[in-house]
Amino acid sequence: MLDRAQVRRNLESTSFDVAVVGGGITGAGIARDAALRGLRVALIEKGDLARGTSSASSKLIHGGLRYLEQLELGLVREGTRERSVLMKLAPHLARPLPFIFPIYRSSRAGPLKVAAGMWLYDALAVFKNYRSHQMLRPRQVQRLEPMLLSDELRAGALYYDCMTDDGRLTVETAVDAAAHEATIATYFQVTGFRRSASGSVTGVLAKDVLSGGAPVEIKAKITVSAAGPWTDELLGPISNGRVYLRPTKGIHLVLTRDRLPLDHAIVLTAVRDGRVLFAIPWGQRSYVGTTDTDDPSSPDRCLADSLDVDYLLDTANHYFPRLRATPDDVVSTWAGLRPLIAADPAHPSDVSREHEVLDVLPGLIAIAGGKLTTYRLMAEQAVDRVLVKIGSLGGAIDPRCRTETTPLPGAQGMDERTDLVARARDVAREHGVPQDVAEHLLHAYGARAGAVVRAGREAGLAPGERIVSDLPYVWAEVPFAVTNDFARRVEDVLRRRTLVFLKDRDQGLRVAARTADLMGPLLGWDDERRQAEVTSYGALVEDSRAFRKKGEPARPAQAPVRLD
Ligand SMILES: Cc1cc2nc3c(=O)[nH]c(=O)nc-3n(C[C@H](O)[C@H](O)[C@H](O)COP(=O)(O)OP(=O)(O)OC[C@H]3O[C@@H](n4cnc5c(N)ncnc54)[C@H](O)[C@@H]3O)c2cc1C
Repeated sequence: MLDRAQVRRNLESTSFDVAVVGGGITGAGIARDAALRGLRVALIEKGDLARGTSSASSKLIHGGLRYLEQLELGLVREGTRERSVLMKLAPHLARPLPFIFPIYRSSRAGPLKVAAGMWLYDALAVFKNYRSHQMLRPRQVQRLEPMLLSDELRAGALYYDCMTDDGRLTVETAVDAAAHEATIATYFQVTGFRRSASGSVTGVLAKDVLSGGAPVEIKAKITVSAAGPWTDELLGPISNGRVYLRPTKGIHLVLTRDRLPLDHAIVLTAVRDGRVLFAIPWGQRSYVGTTDTDDPSSPDRCLADSLDVDYLLDTANHYFPRLRATPDDVVSTWAGLRPLIAADPAHPSDVSREHEVLDVLPGLIAIAGGKLTTYRLMAEQAVDRVLVKIGSLGGAIDPRCRTETTPLPGAQGMDERTDLVARARDVAREHGVPQDVAEHLLHAYGARAGAVVRAGREAGLAPGERIVSDLPYVWAEVPFAVTNDFARRVEDVLRRRTLVFLKDRDQGLRVAARTADLMGPLLGWDDERRQAEVTSYGALVEDSRAFRKKGEPARPAQAPVRLD
């Protein structure tokens, strides 16, 4: 990994083929695809990788069962196809998860309709999904998930999609982009665009959010906006205020596994409005989500409030009658904005497409909408468009997309047939860590798990020393996050490289100081900066607990801490 001074020098001195704005899954995917095709790439992200929607999803790699109801078969086919590509090229990050779809007397669709839908879902995956669906009798559903409401249960369906860690998928995608010479510039905020005399966009202007200094001018033949829900904020000033998006907010809440012990993800229908929700097993925890509400606040201030939490708890308490959870039982929440494409004012009746690559100005394209699941395909289409444009500028290009066959770095030596539990046993034996730690390291880092333990040893840390006693995260992950995975702040490590922020009952407050102690020497922090990191992390936790203030709209608790 380049250090920050080198990143800055690269940004200033290189004429890039493509500058990608936004380090969520979309931008990271584009940077990797473009770098694999041999383009000179800069990825510019104003915060940490995946700090926006890409660490706030439902963490599913799925075909999208809900599209079947609307007969959007093309979208389901696209999703199931990309699901199988990811299972092959990143099996540690796209792991099969069994789902139960319970069917009650009051359900919209009866057993026959659900069975037909399930058959179609398998058919659209060309019957190559991990396993085909199976219809269940009420007693079978009860046996598999004893907590689930059994009154008026008519049947159930068992089917498979995949579970991921959205933040880690984004980071690993960016790591591979960097391995193919892309310059990954996190904590650089794009503040404007370079323009030629004819008005073409010739790159961007960016400021260093962490250490200040003069703005950087980044030259690029093509600039791609991959700013997710920030798209309008970024492009509004340069495109006469055109509105590209109609974002909606979605939140999730986390409960301990002993309160909601699940072995399958359960498809629920919200008691208030019939929307589809999920309750999902998550190691020592379970989570419930998501909501879908219009939200006028900036994506920088997207938080769960008490109304969001009540909405989810109402449904969870209905379907799991013994749960009786209140907001006090909620371990943590997360919230994000869907970057949904607004209807084109010229064609308001058009059905909104899942994603779209848009020509904004000469030299500037934007990609909007989409899903985590289809990020590889979105990136392929965006880079194809970049190449058409660079071609017309007379550059020499190699047009073949390689992402459909090139595994992510953690997938070296693995594919969808790899037995991850057996592999974890090997990791446990080889590195002397407990089995649950080995499984976590394998799921999060794949074949890089050994390198994590080695980074810890070099920093004088015992391989199996846990960050929090009842979770499998280990201190060795902290130096690895800094030296290999672009972590720059305490929040990056506790919220996205590990999931301590979401899974620990204390949300990592007690371990923030030691995290800062381990990161500081690697990043040259003085005492003041170290303390600022710990304070800022506390404010982040406080913000995420805004839902505890009954009836109040969620607002950040504290102003962000200045770091420069
Ligand atoms: C509640 C919810 C649940 C979801 N569940 C699923 C799911 O289970 N499966 C699935 O496939 N999809 C799911 N999605 C959709 C998926 O999460 C998103 O489509 C995807 O994460 C969007 O990624 P992105 O990179 O486009 O946006 P983001 O991840 O938001 O990235 C945009 C980035 O741009 C950066 N940026 C903005 N402005 C600037 C600037 N001026 N300079 C530099 N950087 C800038 C931001 O900091 C941000 O990191 C879900 C979405 C939501 C909201």
